[in-house]
Amino acid sequence: MLILFLLSISIASQGQRTKRGEQRLIKSGQNFEKMRVVQVTDSLDFIILRNKSLDIPHLKRNIWDLLSERMLATVNDPNHAGVGIAAPQVSVNRRLILVQRFDKDDKPFETIFNPEIIYSSDSVHSRIEGCLSIPEIRDTVTRSWTIEVLYYNSKGKKIQETVEGFTARIFQHEIDHLNGILFTDRIKH
Ligand SMILES: [Zn+2]
Repeated sequence: MLILFLLSISIASQGQRTKRGEQRLIKSGQNFEKMRVVQVTDSLDFIILRNKSLDIPHLKRNIWDLLSERMLATVNDPNHAGVGIAAPQVSVNRRLILVQRFDKDDKPFETIFNPEIIYSSDSVHSRIEGCLSIPEIRDTVTRSWTIEVLYYNSKGKKIQETVEGFTARIFQHEIDHLNGILFTDRIKH
């Protein structure tokens, strides 16, 4: 019990530490300069990936625009490209994700602040997933086909939206990251 208690304190203080530390980290690079992606195989990175992320207050502050630009550069890194990324993957335990919108023309990446899934359909689909933070593992994950998600967009506007299919899968994978859940937790054998 004590060990668990101490562990929860250290995880909580990890979240606290972010206040000043996260600003330093985000400002450590230029606009659109990519960031290091944490890896599940590293013990300190693992704590960040398992931490529950905090809401982003004051959405209009430039720091979150900079973080979003740097996450975009990171997910578009030709050597390590993905279709979505969550802030904890660049060591920032905040509720911010980037999702590639395969349900829209030109398939843009969108910045999603403080997302919350308010409905998940019983209708599911299975597909192979991977993760920028988990080397070498790709496996089948079953997820809801349709979700309803509440979030703030890059202009600070509150959005409630129904999303389906592959794009809904990306939302679910990335929002899991904000809750310390990895896709490998959802693999059934
Ligand atoms: Zn992932």
